[in-house]
Amino acid sequence: QQPLLDVSNLRVSYRKDKTYSDAVRGVSFTLGRERLGIVGESGSGKSTIGRALLKLLPSARISADRLQFQDTDLLKAGEREMLTIRGRRISMILQDPKFSLNPVHRVGHQVSEAYRVHTRASSQQARQKTLEMLEAVHIRDPERVYDLYPHEVSGGMGQRIMIAMMLIPEPQLIIADEPTSALDVTVRMQVLNILNELVTRKGMGLIMISHDLNLVRNFCDRVLIMRSGEIVESCAARDLTHASHPYTRGLLAAQPHIGGNRGPLPVLGRDPGLAKPAVETM
Ligand code: ATP
Ligand code: MG
Repeated sequence: QQPLLDVSNLRVSYRKDKTYSDAVRGVSFTLGRERLGIVGESGSGKSTIGRALLKLLPSARISADRLQFQDTDLLKAGEREMLTIRGRRISMILQDPKFSLNPVHRVGHQVSEAYRVHTRASSQQARQKTLEMLEAVHIRDPERVYDLYPHEVSGGMGQRIMIAMMLIPEPQLIIADEPTSALDVTVRMQVLNILNELVTRKGMGLIMISHDLNLVRNFCDRVLIMRSGEIVESCAARDLTHASHPYTRGLLAAQPHIGGNRGPLPVLGRDPGLAKPAVETM
């Protein structure tokens, strides 16, 4: 089966004054309908990869031997074609929903518009679909939440609404860039479990960008470790503890619960008890 995404020798340089500085230096990977984590220190080029896939880098130079998403050659795709891909076939979830939700529109309206721009649905159909989607992200009273403004919802609920908005057009690939780092620990688990549930149920591919090796190890199927614009390690998440690269070993040693002789960590998303939020904070 053809992979969802096939990236070979991706290079991205940002323009700095009159010269270019390399942020991504020859990165290659493929992605199927699975969850791929990208981990690495700040500035290692993780977000740049995500933005390059959506071609959201007007002032950067992007080159690759291959940048194939399903039947689309992203290298060749112009802005017009990218507009049919962004949000529709590839969605991006960012760290802070406050920057992504428009403060002047009710949240339900925003989610339903995200559906309507990509389909010919009537406003009634879009409303129905939105209510279903809000329920799918474990919002208990979707009718009420539909009419709230972004400032009236908590960070955790805001992030779930963002997920609803990004997943409602049923994209094949989700790029989540530190999607939960602004949330506290319990809410983070809820949000990750919901994302996991939806991605698995709908058979989407997911790229999860994070600083947190523990999180990615538990949440993803495969992991890429990045340093200075290059992949230094690529392995199945469950094999991370046997990683060979000294940099990965260093990262593992720096994580609170990895590398010692403790028992296995609880696997997120497979404990049904964790899947439902205990409290819905406002
Ligand atoms: P973080 O974990 O802090 O989010 P990251 O791994 O996502 O880091 P990137 O944001 O991809 O790293 O940045 C990679 C490199 O490119 C860094 O050296 C950064 O300073 C540089 N860079 C990122 N965005 C730009 C930009 N718009 N213009 C110029 N340089 C940039
Ligand atoms: Mg980043």
